[in-house]
Amino acid sequence: MRVIAVKTHLLDHALETAFESASMSFARRQHCLVEVICDDGTVGWGECLGPARANARVVETYAQWLVGEDPLETEKIWLALYNRLRDQGQRGLTMTALSGIDIALWDIKGKHFGVPISTLLGGRFRDSVRAYATGSFRREGVDRISDVTAEVARYRDEGFHAVKIKIGFDVEEDLQVIEAVREAIGPDMRLMIDANHGYDYLEAIEVGKRAAAFGIDWFEEPVLPEQIGTYEAVRAGQPIPVASGENWHGRYAMNEPL
Ligand SMILES: [Mg+2]
Repeated sequence: MRVIAVKTHLLDHALETAFESASMSFARRQHCLVEVICDDGTVGWGECLGPARANARVVETYAQWLVGEDPLETEKIWLALYNRLRDQGQRGLTMTALSGIDIALWDIKGKHFGVPISTLLGGRFRDSVRAYATGSFRREGVDRISDVTAEVARYRDEGFHAVKIKIGFDVEEDLQVIEAVREAIGPDMRLMIDANHGYDYLEAIEVGKRAAAFGIDWFEEPVLPEQIGTYEAVRAGQPIPVASGENWHGRYAMNEPL
């Protein structure tokens, strides 16, 4: 089996109400899908995280080195494509585009052997997992506290055991939102906060110290992802466990020491 074509598909939808996290705003929802086509008719689909048009251009760049390859050789292909752009591409779009291709190749492999990818990876250890709800972005022209509290109450009513909310905009307003959310969901539901690296070090310490009273499981991306040492300082300076890594790509980035 050989790859004969790679196509990108842009999904694009204008939103009625724009929304934002601390680091990004969205007036439209756009996604890049990757379609890998094989000579025996098998087609695999993948999706890239992040800016759709930019991802599509990088996928198209990779495509010249993917056509003609055996799609079942997922590790070999991943490394070959990574090597092609390694010098300028250890993180970011080169990795999100490569991820979309990799997902499509695993889709092909599952279809080829007629088994779920969990079987290809060695078998499934469980049949269900607990999920937390996330969302609560700041929406344009909408009262943030009433909007977010209504949203999290809906998650509670739908049966979620935990919710993660967006902060990182303004220290005082964010703390008001956290307090209102805890009141809306009650004392038993688990609550996490995600600043999308919107704070500086001092703001992160301030929020962590004051938010801890509301029972926070983790404080996600308090500061810029490049400032790895600052994560250690934020953890030491306030009582909530700190999470990050959403903008670090690949096993190499995850291996970097604090
Ligand atoms: Mg996050």
